[in-house]
Amino acid sequence: MTDTNYPHLLAPLDLGFITLKNRVLMGSMHTGLEDGNKHERLAVYFAERARGEVGLIVTGGYAPNRAGWVKPFAGKMTTRGEAARHRRITDAVHAEDGKIAMQILHAGRYAYHPLAVAPSRIRSPISPFTPRELSSSGVEKQIKAFVRCAQLAREAGYDGVEIMGSEGYFINEFLVTHTNHRTDQWGGDYSQRMRLPVEIVERTREAVGSDFIIIYRLSMIDLIPDGNTWDETVALAKAVEGAGATIINTGIGWHEARVPTIATSVPRGAFTWVTKKMKREVNIPLITSNRINLPATAEQILADGCADMVSMARPMLADSEFVKKAREGRADEINVCIACNQACLDHTFSNKMSSCLVNPRACHEIELNYVATKTRRRFAVVGSGPAGLSAALVLAERGHEVDLYESAAEIGGQLNMAKVIPGKEEFHEMLRYFKRQLELKNVRVHLNTRAGADDLNTEGFDGVVIATGVVARDPNIEGQDHPKVLSYIDVLRKQVPVGKRVAIVGAGGIGFDVAEFLLHEGHSPTMDLEEWLAEWGVVDPARARGGIALERTKPESSRRELTLLQRKAGKHGANLGKTTGWIHRATLKMNDVRMIGNVNYERIGDEGLLITYGEKHEDPTWLDVDNIILCAGQLPLRELKEPLAAAGIPTHVIGGADVATELDAKRAIDQGSRLAARL
Ligand code: NAP
Ligand code: SF4
Repeated sequence: MTDTNYPHLLAPLDLGFITLKNRVLMGSMHTGLEDGNKHERLAVYFAERARGEVGLIVTGGYAPNRAGWVKPFAGKMTTRGEAARHRRITDAVHAEDGKIAMQILHAGRYAYHPLAVAPSRIRSPISPFTPRELSSSGVEKQIKAFVRCAQLAREAGYDGVEIMGSEGYFINEFLVTHTNHRTDQWGGDYSQRMRLPVEIVERTREAVGSDFIIIYRLSMIDLIPDGNTWDETVALAKAVEGAGATIINTGIGWHEARVPTIATSVPRGAFTWVTKKMKREVNIPLITSNRINLPATAEQILADGCADMVSMARPMLADSEFVKKAREGRADEINVCIACNQACLDHTFSNKMSSCLVNPRACHEIELNYVATKTRRRFAVVGSGPAGLSAALVLAERGHEVDLYESAAEIGGQLNMAKVIPGKEEFHEMLRYFKRQLELKNVRVHLNTRAGADDLNTEGFDGVVIATGVVARDPNIEGQDHPKVLSYIDVLRKQVPVGKRVAIVGAGGIGFDVAEFLLHEGHSPTMDLEEWLAEWGVVDPARARGGIALERTKPESSRRELTLLQRKAGKHGANLGKTTGWIHRATLKMNDVRMIGNVNYERIGDEGLLITYGEKHEDPTWLDVDNIILCAGQLPLRELKEPLAAAGIPTHVIGGADVATELDAKRAIDQGSRLAARL
């Protein structure tokens, strides 16, 4: 195959003193490997991505001083000793013919520690620590720290640095009046507020010489009130170009913005139009980013003239061979990032090591390897949800013979319900990947086949992996055999018609999914960029500061009246993803879904659902609804275990069949893959 598959994406980028082999930037991502001395793991992790042919890698953020730490003892680059230790990383990447830049990240008021500093003493909504306001000389010290950090990065063998000027961190905080109330030379009118980044870039260029990449990550749309106007953003981009930046990368939204920017419900390439606006303003290459996860999408963005390069961060966690597979005409083999955040960002924000839901090897490249088996054995995997699929694929990859049994007519299990939820379309990609890999790895798939213990016994397998999933929990509500009552499976899988007024029993992940499914009735704002932008109040930053509309367009009111119920008191959806739960709650609120907690389900009848409140069962209220949908969680289904064990066949129970209460694809895939790596 030639590079004609993706001619724009795979074209080299000549930066004058260095040439990148293609237009793919592995965007900066904090994985947790940056903290402490995990250089060996980082070296292996990045080398694998360099081998996968990514054009330029950017590391996770390293602080230029302690004040700039994101959290205590986060990665920093402040000494020659630290620089020397990074040699391992840069050498490993260069040995694979890759290029790598180090991101310099000063957290400013987002820092999660008491040493935080900022232009003004204004606490952020995402850290409990109020920053110290820097004196004028304190600002000078920070600039010097940036410059020294870049020099050390060069000494460490990096091909360049990325100066993090977006997402609401330190540099960004000087730019807007939202966070900069200074009256000295670093505050006041815009020419003074933008002085800090310009000085940093200019002095860094002087210090590192002309043959070193400086990427400046510029907030092109702040998505906060009092954010920059478009004219201000353009002025900054031109000044940063003049100060010696090699490339400008696009930052979208501050972390405190109440607009989703990378979640799975954000349309693919939703913000590339912002970078395109900037293309006419500067002459240096521009990188665009956010929700770009397929080579075809990236190619189209470049072909449309939106940017010169495309940043993909999470897609490189999902598949280290993304670029190589695209170049070789094997795009259908790419394990696609579904933008769930569950194993990457949610882990980072919970102080856990990042990985990837669809690729548990991400950041675990040293200890989790699918080594070819010395003894080929025969395995049956029963159930083709995410747990069974992962186990089957890893077993086959290692050289075992695998039969996969599925009682339904298609593979995927619960994934087939997820894929019909508006905003969760990426699950189609996950299923596409699994299907293709089953073919490539010669797994024998038996659809419409409910494998019984006797059949499995007769076949003489060396082992059986039980991944039979879950059954819906029965909430035992009086009168629940009433025709008004449906289960989430009736709604999502069997597409049984649902009335106008609906009560949903259970406000976990599936209760929320059912609510979103019913609200949008098959129409997904994720598939309609204009509608999605209007729903979240995003406008051209030339029309409103920060690109946020003063008045949000209320979504067209749903034809349904939904009530989402739970027995516990407290926030609905409290166990949803750390970085995405708020989006689900906001979506339901925008659509006037009623959320009621602390209830008891007393009875179902022709009148609807009778609830009472609290331990004393007070205030009986009939919810006059057309349908009651049960989303009360699940119980494990593992009836094969005992008979197989009695027949002396080794069994392994994984996924929802093992633990139903934590039913989720992340645990299922991780468990299936790790089990299969051992067998
Ligand atoms: P879940 O998250 O465990 O929620 C079950 C809900 O049912 C809870 O609201 C619970 O709240 C209620 N419930 C439990 N026992 C009940 C009973 N006997 N009678 C009535 N109500 C009862 O389960 P799920 O919603 O089925 O989701 C399963 C898993 O799938 C989740 O753990 C999640 O990881 C994953 N998932 C996630 C998402 C997402 O993140 N968007 C989407 C889909 C699925 P009360 O006990 O307070 O009533
Ligand atoms: Fe993408 Fe989810 Fe993997 Fe993160 S965990 S890289 S969002 S698929």
